[in-house]
Amino acid sequence: MEVARAAFFVGPREIRVGPIDLPRVEPGMVLLRVLACGVCGTNLHSWQAPRLTTGRNPDAGASGHEVAGQVVEVGAGVTSVRVGDRVGVELFESRACGRCRYCHEGRFFHCEQKRPTNAGGFVDYILMYDKGLYKLPESMSAAEGTLLEPFSCSLHAVRMAGLLGGETVLVLGAGLLGIFAVAAAKLYGAGKVICTAKYHFQAEAAARFGADLVVDSSDPQLERRVKDEAGGRGPDVVIESVGGRASTIQQAMSVVRPVGKVMVMGLFDEPVPIDTWQAVIKELSLIFPATYSVMGMRHEYELALELLASGKVPGKELISHRFGLGEVQRAFEVAADRSRGVFRVVVEPPLG
Ligand SMILES: [Zn+2]
Ligand SMILES: [Zn+2]
Repeated sequence: MEVARAAFFVGPREIRVGPIDLPRVEPGMVLLRVLACGVCGTNLHSWQAPRLTTGRNPDAGASGHEVAGQVVEVGAGVTSVRVGDRVGVELFESRACGRCRYCHEGRFFHCEQKRPTNAGGFVDYILMYDKGLYKLPESMSAAEGTLLEPFSCSLHAVRMAGLLGGETVLVLGAGLLGIFAVAAAKLYGAGKVICTAKYHFQAEAAARFGADLVVDSSDPQLERRVKDEAGGRGPDVVIESVGGRASTIQQAMSVVRPVGKVMVMGLFDEPVPIDTWQAVIKELSLIFPATYSVMGMRHEYELALELLASGKVPGKELISHRFGLGEVQRAFEVAADRSRGVFRVVVEPPLG
């Protein structure tokens, strides 16, 4: 059997490349040569605390899920793609059973009978099913194709917030998801978008992607400034995109207006205490969007692809670093240090 490379988590903050067998392509399956895979915050969580990797995720490929690849082999009966096509992969849709209640609703993340794949995305080759493969236009690089995944997450959060137009939206955090949330909120009709940013390069990007006002996240007057900008009441919607050890859920609940919505996109290291009294008094909705789905007959992947391909959202300028698969440890180290101008680190196996 032919052998390919895959990355494995081997200990806290340690990821190494080792061999895996090249999988057999069964009917209905598609073999992709991975051209690029983005290093996402969830990958960094798994890297820092490997307890999160045991169990559900296959270990090979280190839970990479922001995948763009090229079709190298198709099994019998495959109709959606041809050998040579370059695609962005919607992993949950590809693996979904297509028959359960959640699949019928287009909520593939919640499929009750997910099918197995050979590995996560930090590999030379990945086996997928004949679904969830979104063809990339010529003009779009594979690295840019990896942005379908994070951009879809931000679109999902904004769509779940149900903007009707004219709202004031506060985005907490100006990493990749926050920047994409700013762009998405603007596209969905927000009247004013305010964004908090920790670093200068993040603040600049937030403004480029449509933020009307960017506030330093360490500004002690942050809450008052945001409320002033939002008619004195506070924003209608707050999108939290920080996670980790930040107190951004509490901050969001405090600053949002009564009967407002808080969308929590960040992943937190520990359980977070919340002031339920405040939530009741303000009649808040706390919503935890995860991944993406079909809503209103459109999949967020389709929307993300259109918006990136047209240049309406200039995602490619957020690809800040590129590494070969052999340098995956370095890629993770760089991705974990936001202070150095990092938006998205992409691992590109063909680079070495
Ligand atoms: Zn991701
Ligand atoms: Zn299903």
